[in-house]
Amino acid sequence: HDSLTGLPNRNFVLQCYPALLQQAKGQGEQAALLCIDLDRFKNINDSLGHTFGDLLLVQMGERLKSLLAPAQQLARQGGDEFLVLLCAPQVQEQAATLAAAIVEALARPLWLRGQEVRLTASVGISLCQDGAEDIQSHMRHADLAMYSAKDAGRNGIQFYNKAMDARARTRLALEYEIRRGLENGEFEAFYQPRVDCLTGEIVGAEALARWRHPERGLLFPDSFIPVCEESGVIRELDRQILAQVASQLANWEAQGRLLQVSVNLSASQFGDPALPDVLQQILQASNCRAAAIELEITESLLLAHDQNTLDTLASLRTMGFAIAIDDFGTGYSNLAYLQNYPLNTLKIDRSFISGLPQSSAIPQLITSLCRILSLNMVAEGVETHAQLDWLRQQGCQQYQGYLCSRPVSLAHFNELLHY
Ligand code: C2E
Ligand code: CA
Ligand code: CA
Repeated sequence: HDSLTGLPNRNFVLQCYPALLQQAKGQGEQAALLCIDLDRFKNINDSLGHTFGDLLLVQMGERLKSLLAPAQQLARQGGDEFLVLLCAPQVQEQAATLAAAIVEALARPLWLRGQEVRLTASVGISLCQDGAEDIQSHMRHADLAMYSAKDAGRNGIQFYNKAMDARARTRLALEYEIRRGLENGEFEAFYQPRVDCLTGEIVGAEALARWRHPERGLLFPDSFIPVCEESGVIRELDRQILAQVASQLANWEAQGRLLQVSVNLSASQFGDPALPDVLQQILQASNCRAAAIELEITESLLLAHDQNTLDTLASLRTMGFAIAIDDFGTGYSNLAYLQNYPLNTLKIDRSFISGLPQSSAIPQLITSLCRILSLNMVAEGVETHAQLDWLRQQGCQQYQGYLCSRPVSLAHFNELLHY
């Protein structure tokens, strides 16, 4: 058994489920295997610490247990994945009903150590009539279906189908290609201007990764960031982008041009205690001032008052980096952290800007919040003059968006600077 949750573990499944499958067959029943994965658990575990993550897993295990009948076998597959084996004459409908109940139950908010945590789950279902002969192929199918539920936007259910095998092969090949691309320096920082709302002057930029693929041309983050996050390669990517930005900032400064560039830092970086040292090395290698760089992190990282994250952020601030919260307003609506973390900037998410000037309640709230807490405010995704006018009137300092420019190559960005 698994020592954390007390549930049967993966080995148990491999040893005992074959007999259960056999037995079901003998009774004219069909089997379904459900693979349940907690969405974004890795983020929470990285940012809030393993103890918190463990507590969360135990709670989720309890929720699952309470949903299941005794004959429905629950196990912990490992990490944040659970398995349920279901045998019944007409298993397909039962599996769908059960999976829906699981998704609903796991999505209910949870209080842990005085924190409200919101998780969702993705469920993949493998039926034995789909050619799963043994427990291994059953597990593989359920796993593939679970990944496709995640791709479909998480918090949902997918049944396995054959096309998923091909997709898995493609994904693995992509991961390999990304690693190779990183070794060959194929990833490049593009720059989207950050503009002063009042003067219209370009005061900096956000660096956004692009992949100059030798065969497929210029690729955008949606085609590689998810695989990078899943495989952990994101750390290397973020560091390469940061190194490019740092050396470019030093160049500009040598030309007398003071800019601040923000880079995106994946939450998984905060699981690495060496992060401040790594960043320090990058600064030294390029002779760049830390203050010229703003690190963009996501709200979910700050979900609880985790001491490790707080310490890391504090040392990054002491080193001189500015810290921004990206996509502000889309994550957890816990505002307490805004006071407790050393932040400089809130970047209001594009989804709130697109409704301006008609739907202004949330942007208005965020502008007040920034004023009261003395935080710099950057509006993302500004596309129209009407939006900019509204932001200017509200005292928002800076914006990014197609109104000024899309993210562009370094050469192009340098041209924009010289207009
Ligand atoms: P993000 O950090 O929220 O970046 C803003 C995204 O919005 C960019 O997409 C940008 O092209 C797009 N955008 C900017 N202005 C407008 C506008 O006016 N209208 C519209 N419709 N869209 C606009 P992009 O470059 O495709 O990046 C997508 C996401 O990928 C980023 O979202 C960020 O989360 C992630 N990402 C990109 N580069 C990196 C990186 O180097 N490291 C990490 N960890 N994540 C990255
Ligand atoms: Ca960003
Ligand atoms: Ca953003």
